[in-house]
Amino acid sequence: MLLDCVIVGGGPAGLNASLVLARAKKNIVLFDEDKPRNAVTYESHGFITRDRIKPSEFKRLAREDLKEYPSLEIRNQRVTAIQKEDGSFLVQTGEGDRYRSRKIILATGLTELLPDIEGIHEFYGTSLFSCPFCDGWELRDRPLVVVAEDERAMHGVKLIANWSKDLVVCTNGKTPFTAEQKALLSKKNIRIIDNEIESFQGDKGQLEKIRFKEGEELEREGGFIASELKQASSLIESLGCSLNTMGGIETDDFGRTEVEGVYACGDNALVAPAQLVIAASEGSRTAIGVVADLVNEDF
Ligand SMILES: Cc1cc2nc3c(=O)[nH]c(=O)nc-3n(C[C@H](O)[C@H](O)[C@H](O)COP(=O)(O)OP(=O)(O)OC[C@H]3O[C@@H](n4cnc5c(N)ncnc54)[C@H](O)[C@@H]3O)c2cc1C
Repeated sequence: MLLDCVIVGGGPAGLNASLVLARAKKNIVLFDEDKPRNAVTYESHGFITRDRIKPSEFKRLAREDLKEYPSLEIRNQRVTAIQKEDGSFLVQTGEGDRYRSRKIILATGLTELLPDIEGIHEFYGTSLFSCPFCDGWELRDRPLVVVAEDERAMHGVKLIANWSKDLVVCTNGKTPFTAEQKALLSKKNIRIIDNEIESFQGDKGQLEKIRFKEGEELEREGGFIASELKQASSLIESLGCSLNTMGGIETDDFGRTEVEGVYACGDNALVAPAQLVIAASEGSRTAIGVVADLVNEDF
């Protein structure tokens, strides 16, 4: 059977895209291998009606909503290859299944590359985070560390100072600040430590202190780290989609990529700060783009 659309990735972007497409009576399959970027965290914040929800519960509720729609099938499988052939797409999964579809939505998300510091994975998602809009409230007014190694450092520190005035900035041996920025931080009583970090230490995901290679220790209850983000899926490259300067897939306002018939939405298109509600809304908008293109072709 020729499907109307295959959606790759069942995070908020792919789930909301699926909902809109299913409600438009389109025959679709959603593939999700369920390895989202926020799997490390215990709860998500900032999505109205879903504030403080567990990421797994968010997905369960979304899939519950989708059960209503008979033209949608969900497969818990990884898509391993997509080839464009004669105006449609051949989609192959890791289990060897093959599907043919007129359109493809890539909602594959991003993965993070955290600095290579001992203990970091024990605390990331529980007391160390990357986004103050997601987790700043939970860490408000507490003694925090900001690990800032590159040109994003000053902006990050200004932002996090909105949630706590008790900040220490660790550059981990790098030099991201100008003399002028250092003077401003000093005026705000924000200490900068340039020593390399040896490890993060604490118990059950709760950060207690930072140990530096020189031997010094610093007590902190949580903090923020600027991580590197990269595309989670190599399908983007193999399909020939171009990336923008931020490393997100280049799309128009309705998620159309430069490859005809291929759309992208959510974190992987990086049109906005990475947030569940924004990914979901981009999924919705992209699905509307797909339906608009299908009806234009068929009417
Ligand atoms: C530690 C942490 C805490 C966060 N906290 C919050 C918060 O409190 N509030 C908030 O709004 N946002 C938060 N975020 C950001 C939020 O998680 C993302 O913005 C959101 O998940 C992006 O949704 P998405 O659908 O684009 O991608 P994802 O949620 O990453 O989903 C992508 C899905 O696609 C699947 N996939 C990828 N490739 C394939 C393939 N080839 N085949 C099949 N499936 C595939 C993945 O396994 C994954 O399930 C947090 C992020 C992190 C890292």
